[in-house]
Amino acid sequence: MAAFSGFLLFIFGTAIGSFLNVLILRYKPERPLFDWRALSGRSHCPACGRTLSPAELIPFFSFLFLRGKCGSCRARISLQYPLVELLTGLAFLGVPLFLNNFYGVSQELFFSFALAPWHYFLAGLWVFAFVCFIAITAIDLKHCIIPDELVVMVGVAGALAAWTLSANVAASPAMITIRASDVATAIARITPSTFTSPSCPPRITSRRAVPAAAPA
Ligand SMILES: [Zn+2]
Repeated sequence: MAAFSGFLLFIFGTAIGSFLNVLILRYKPERPLFDWRALSGRSHCPACGRTLSPAELIPFFSFLFLRGKCGSCRARISLQYPLVELLTGLAFLGVPLFLNNFYGVSQELFFSFALAPWHYFLAGLWVFAFVCFIAITAIDLKHCIIPDELVVMVGVAGALAAWTLSANVAASPAMITIRASDVATAIARITPSTFTSPSCPPRITSRRAVPAAAPA
């Protein structure tokens, strides 16, 4: 039961990874991340423009069957596609396995849906955070920017996870007491240079315009 549920979770994860690829591929720093007009529309081969058939859209496995090449023009398919799909599938499977291990929860009980709902909510939040991390990594590598939307989403997931833990677990090794003054100090330290990486051109490190230096 546990192995079958885990396998289904992995397959579901690769499908989410497929959507993540579209999100990463069609993202432009000057546009919001969730621009539905850019995200809608069928997937096509970036080299020959042909719309992909349903058989070519099976996450991860299509790449293996096609041996990494487009079915008609034989152009190489970017490794980003199978990699993101595989990592997302592994996040969906691996994060619950790790969490159950961490909290000493039986995998068999977890995958038989016999545990209290908050276990699944917490696992879902962590999976969500990992999916965001994968998107953050890929977009940062491509564009040298981390979209604000993803930062906010991870932040909200973190706050919800902390609340779930404090409401359900008396003393958890993962619980960290955060004082409001620490948060204020951390926010006060953030300056525009915090977001500027030396190897990235400054104009795309933030969607807001970076003020030009005054002439000397
Ligand atoms: Zn092609």
